[in-house]
Amino acid sequence: MKILIMGPPGAGKGTIAEMLKENLGVVHLSSGDILRDAIKENNPLGMKAKAFMEKGVLVPDEIIIELMKEKLNTDDSILDGFPRNLAQVKKLEDANIQIDIVLNLQVNEETIISRISGRRICEKCGKIYHLKNMPSKKEGICDICGGNLYQRKDDEPQTIRERLNTYKQQTEGLVNYYNDKGILKNIDAGGNKETTYDKMAGLEWLKKKKYR
Ligand code: ADP
Repeated sequence: MKILIMGPPGAGKGTIAEMLKENLGVVHLSSGDILRDAIKENNPLGMKAKAFMEKGVLVPDEIIIELMKEKLNTDDSILDGFPRNLAQVKKLEDANIQIDIVLNLQVNEETIISRISGRRICEKCGKIYHLKNMPSKKEGICDICGGNLYQRKDDEPQTIRERLNTYKQQTEGLVNYYNDKGILKNIDAGGNKETTYDKMAGLEWLKKKKYR
């Protein structure tokens, strides 16, 4: 079973994917996290990807495909951020990897900007916070592991616009593609994470799942 979670930057894909992971006991594969880990580890592919990410544009397909390749064989997983254009969809299909359901998180642009500009992340465990909506108990410090919280470089205001443009030009079209296949579920993700999750959990497909 493969769930693809889609939506513009700031829609809450990472947060919702983590909730699904906990409740369904599946693996969460975030292409953005995989790229950021590759950069942290000084992996040559990560080094090549860095400048593209900082500009808010997609990294070249061959880099992300190479990094995702082995991980995609995991049976039950949530794909977050991959595929992100038609070439990547094609790659999955060529490898006979089937997506069973696509959850499309919908949020307006004003909410996106406010969410992204306030987002802070733990450098150690990756937990996501928001300065206003989901603050840590102690400013700048992760509640879970005590790591320092940082702002992603591409979450700075000038890059957010570019990422939104990239999304509209290259990724949004996949929504229609999966809708035509009959596997798309649109979810209003403008509220808080619990409300969004409840909307999804109310869907028949999730109730039918046999996970823990
Ligand atoms: P968001 O969806 O919030 O913009 P991500 O963490 O998913 O953030 O991605 C951050 C950046 O990583 C993107 O702007 C892009 O440069 C790169 N990236 C992630 N996934 C892909 C992908 N599938 N193909 C190309 N680039 C990607």
